[in-house]
Amino acid sequence: MRSVDVVVVGGGIAGVSVAARLPRELRVVVVERESSLVHHSTGRSAAVLVPGLGGGVFSALTDVGLETLDNPDSEFSEVSFLSPRGLLTANVAGDDVEPPSEDISNSRLGQVERVGFDVVVEMAPWVDLDSVESVTFQPDVSDLEVAGLHQAYVREARRNSVDIVRECEVVELARTGTTWRVTTSTEEYETPVVVNAAGAWGDVVAGRAGVSPVGLIPKRRTAFTVPTPGVFDGPMLISSRDDFYAKPEAGEQLLLSPMDQTPVEPSDVRHEEIDVAMTIEAAQPFVRNELRSVRTAWAGLRVFTPDQNPVIGWSEHDGFFWLCGQGGTGIQSAPGAADCAVGLIIDGVVPGRHLEAGLDPAAIDPLRFQNGRDGGRLQG
Ligand SMILES: Cc1cc2nc3c(=O)[nH]c(=O)nc-3n(C[C@H](O)[C@H](O)[C@H](O)COP(=O)(O)OP(=O)(O)OC[C@H]3O[C@@H](n4cnc5c(N)ncnc54)[C@H](O)[C@@H]3O)c2cc1C
Repeated sequence: MRSVDVVVVGGGIAGVSVAARLPRELRVVVVERESSLVHHSTGRSAAVLVPGLGGGVFSALTDVGLETLDNPDSEFSEVSFLSPRGLLTANVAGDDVEPPSEDISNSRLGQVERVGFDVVVEMAPWVDLDSVESVTFQPDVSDLEVAGLHQAYVREARRNSVDIVRECEVVELARTGTTWRVTTSTEEYETPVVVNAAGAWGDVVAGRAGVSPVGLIPKRRTAFTVPTPGVFDGPMLISSRDDFYAKPEAGEQLLLSPMDQTPVEPSDVRHEEIDVAMTIEAAQPFVRNELRSVRTAWAGLRVFTPDQNPVIGWSEHDGFFWLCGQGGTGIQSAPGAADCAVGLIIDGVVPGRHLEAGLDPAAIDPLRFQNGRDGGRLQG
């Protein structure tokens, strides 16, 4: 049995970011079931930062972490993880033409402007405007270098002597006295603190510890690329009907997604051909190029709590900490969420700069889903 100070379950962006930011004097181990740390959601994202996406909690977390993403200290990364992209919203005749503005205005990045068709033609000549009534533009939507960010946290974790163990599944957790005994497929650990960063399997891991589930709902999202000669760069496009988005990618191709949110069991999820076909049908009227052949297709899980806000905080059992439910913004919010988690684990409070950014501690508290247990903090 190996004795450590913290066991982090899950090596995706949530797990490695919190492990990297814990004080270096702690003995921290990250255990990941797969042979690759980015096999699940972290490796399957669309790799963008959209200000305001996900609501107020995610806006605050994204804002707090923006410095790390855009202007990291040189030891963490020599380069920014963000690059300009922009987002065009094509408002279709008869649809509500204004994008939601409330969450956007919460974010210090969230400008939304109306643009004329001449501007659209210049920025994105591949867009077909025939069925479009008006267009809005969010200039501050950025590309997000996901692999680079994840690797920067892995390097930082290694500098801090964090042990990252792959092909190691947590199969049982038992509380004995003041510590958890964590049984994995390869080794046993004894630790006072377990951080549950198991993504779609967060409730499964909690169940193995006898901790109440929070009711995580993994939702499948599909993405695929289609060769589109002449489409190199420029803003991405979304329909006001929310039935697809299209993002220019390197190699003269568009990344397309139906923006599906099909609830599924936690699993190594695959795309369904029907979702791909229906996306092509929805997107084709907005794209001049013929969307003919699919180059690669995949699906991943976006994992939501019942109220759509993440769970960052202690469970009802001593030493069991939640960092799950990041929905569709888990990459862009990761730096802010990791620092928030470290503040709660080490100091017992949400850091001051998170509060200043408007983060409501009650909105991330896992105990809000434990109405019967602690007197209904959900209502509070
Ligand atoms: C198609 C798609 C597009 C997206 N686009 C964006 C985007 O543009 N921008 C953005 O910010 N976010 C985006 N997201 C969301 C983002 O990808 C996720 O919120 C984020 O990756 C969640 O990270 P995670 O570390 O919690 O989960 P994961 O990366 O899934 O990591 C959890 C890990 O825990 C491991 N694990 C589970 N159980 C155990 C166990 N018992 N023992 C050991 N290990 C275990 C799993 O193997 C897994 O590797 C997108 C998601 C999808 C699916």
